[in-house]
Amino acid sequence: MARTLQLLLPGFQRFDCQSCTYCCRSPIVMITRAERDRILRAGWAERLPEERLFHRRRWLGHRPFMLAHRPDGACVFLGEDKLCRLHAETGLETKPLPCRLFPFVPVPACDGIRLDVRCDCPSAAANKGRSLSVHAQDIAHMLAEMHARPRLAPPAWRGVLGLSSREFAAVTEAFVRLLRRGSLDPRMRLRAGCLLIETLCEVRPSKVRGERFIELMAMLSEGAATQAAEPPAVAPLSRRSEKLFGQWLFLHAVTDDPRVMQAGRLARIGRSWRRYGQSRAFARGVGLVPEVSPGWPRVTFEQVKAVQPAPDEALEPICRFIHLKLDAHAFAGPAYYGYDVIAGLTALWLFPAVAGFFARLRTAEAGRDTVNADDVLQGVRTASATFGTSPDFARLSERMRVRALAEPGVPSAFLARFGA
Ligand code: SF4
Repeated sequence: MARTLQLLLPGFQRFDCQSCTYCCRSPIVMITRAERDRILRAGWAERLPEERLFHRRRWLGHRPFMLAHRPDGACVFLGEDKLCRLHAETGLETKPLPCRLFPFVPVPACDGIRLDVRCDCPSAAANKGRSLSVHAQDIAHMLAEMHARPRLAPPAWRGVLGLSSREFAAVTEAFVRLLRRGSLDPRMRLRAGCLLIETLCEVRPSKVRGERFIELMAMLSEGAATQAAEPPAVAPLSRRSEKLFGQWLFLHAVTDDPRVMQAGRLARIGRSWRRYGQSRAFARGVGLVPEVSPGWPRVTFEQVKAVQPAPDEALEPICRFIHLKLDAHAFAGPAYYGYDVIAGLTALWLFPAVAGFFARLRTAEAGRDTVNADDVLQGVRTASATFGTSPDFARLSERMRVRALAEPGVPSAFLARFGA
């Protein structure tokens, strides 16, 4: 008898589509050959004879089909009424699954299918709408269509050492406990996470397994919370760490523009050269912040560093983003480029500094001296657009980078410098 697939939703997240059309413009939508064929069978090549409907590019070792975009950036199927023409004119069955699912991302986990939510969607980032349980039935139908199956094993700890599902749950729980810690303000909770990662880098689970490992995680989480409540002693950052973080930051700033993806070889080579120069400028971290996309703020790194952090209550979207990724197991393993647990947790806990940098950019551009709640929200959206989706982070060099950034004192120092 077929087993019912368990769908695990983050109870703290809300969502309802606000029809802003962001998802019909910015993200690259990859579709299967079957989805492309369904669109063609519905007669779209004849309905839009002047338009290119799909293109193909190399992407993480595959050559998937992607929906084409018009020169104004909109998906070729977006109607003037801001609605999807596939859905409206030839039925939901011709609309590709990633479009129907957005902003939800199912993550196969050991205990069922967990649900991640993309926070580049403005509605998800702002936690607008109804509880996700309202959408559960629709999501379950889509999972059946995907033939989603749970995973057999959790991600490795470090390198190849495997954890049991209970041990992995103890790791995520140790961090979730810090995020929920009422006695700490949000900034202290984020710092506690950095401190816990720094401690975990020293743990050798091959020597401590099973119940002892689970107890150890609870104990270390408690220790990090106590340490975070004390006045922070921020270590000075080495030039090497600054350079590594600058390039990490840069990769979060560059989203793949669908129009460049479908442009000719020459345009793509030009983009690669521009990116190379911009990446070096981010690594230097002085002078004008390179303009990585049209409309990018024209401010200097010095102005960004001089901005004052936001009030505590404005940090909710950052804490919720981290909680979402922990809850969905979307920070390591196949859901995050195959990173091991330590590398994935480091990438996740660098997120507040990355989102904070983007928030500060907006603050500096507006000529204000303190980050506000809207800046934080926009910072989270910008940083989320690449988190777990940009193929750049799949490179071995990025795993090595994040490993180097997990050194004692480094994640918390970047949190102190750029945190929103
Ligand atoms: S980005 Fe989010 S709110 Fe906007 S149209 Fe897409 S799903 Fe709806």
